Amino acid sequence: MVEFDLSEKRIWVAGHRGMVGSAICRRLGEMGCEVVTAGRDQVDLVRQSETEAWIADTKPDVIFLAAAKVGGILANDTYPADFIYENLAIELNIIHSAYQAGVEKLIMLGSSCIYPRLAPQPIAEDALLTGPLEPTNEWYAIAKIAGIKLCQAYRKQHGCDFISAMPTNLYGIGDNFNLETSHVVPALIRKFHEAKVSGAETVTVWGTGKPRREFMYADDCADALVHLAQHYSDMSHVNVGVGQDVTIKDLASTVQQTVKFEGEIVYDTSKPDGTPRKLMDTRLLNSLGWTPKTSLEQGLSQSYEWFLSQES
Ligand code: GDP
Repeated sequence: MVEFDLSEKRIWVAGHRGMVGSAICRRLGEMGCEVVTAGRDQVDLVRQSETEAWIADTKPDVIFLAAAKVGGILANDTYPADFIYENLAIELNIIHSAYQAGVEKLIMLGSSCIYPRLAPQPIAEDALLTGPLEPTNEWYAIAKIAGIKLCQAYRKQHGCDFISAMPTNLYGIGDNFNLETSHVVPALIRKFHEAKVSGAETVTVWGTGKPRREFMYADDCADALVHLAQHYSDMSHVNVGVGQDVTIKDLASTVQQTVKFEGEIVYDTSKPDGTPRKLMDTRLLNSLGWTPKTSLEQGLSQSYEWFLSQES
């Protein structure tokens, strides 16, 4: 297995304010690495010259490319131009500048939505580009597929050690708890908590409760990404997940127990279920010696604690 020592390296985490970026900073901090970050006021990653200048001046040895424009189904569907433009621009600017500056290692982050809508489950890396994408987030997906291809092209033509990782549905510290734009885990934490506080008798969960989803705690994801930076160097992107999924109904009852809400759960079937199942095949990641550490129960309780700390 590849051994890439991060200990003496200067590491730039692009997107350090996001849920994954901040988890990567925590993980690298525990390891005593030198981490550099840049706020949007210092460098706008959509602007090529600013990005080039930042990389040339800062001279990072390693880059975690966790900067992206992200959002739920509604945001993706409403602002397709913003999603495709900003994500393509960030990837082009960072990856090309990293090549010019001789960056030793770059890890680009994508998402499981790069895969065809009806990919066989669990979804293996080679399902990429075998069928049509989910139309609601294809703009984001196309930009992330381009990111994978950029890493591959710079590896092929210039020998750059650029890799890409595709995390599953993430939740955790720093999550978005806005009910309009959030994903299901933070939405349910907030709904159950507010129902408990107000003494409501029911909590409404969207859809039928039957869809299955895989959920990964963001700090586990960060740990896997750091592991890949240390031990992986190849063309293929790598799925990052826990290898197991649960129904939304199971998730809802686990969140209910975490929050200690004593009322009933009702399902609003006028809301969409979305894809019936989205489970990643994580054999490649596991074969590199990484397995998840945080159970769904532990992760949910840590997320709830963080949510409470933000409330007060
Ligand atoms: P997806 O994985 O791209 O479908 O994104 P989401 O995390 O938004 O939704 C996952 C599943 O959870 C879907 O079947 C939703 O209908 C369901 N769900 C149930 N209640 C909620 C909720 O309050 N908010 C969200 N976002 N999803 C919910």
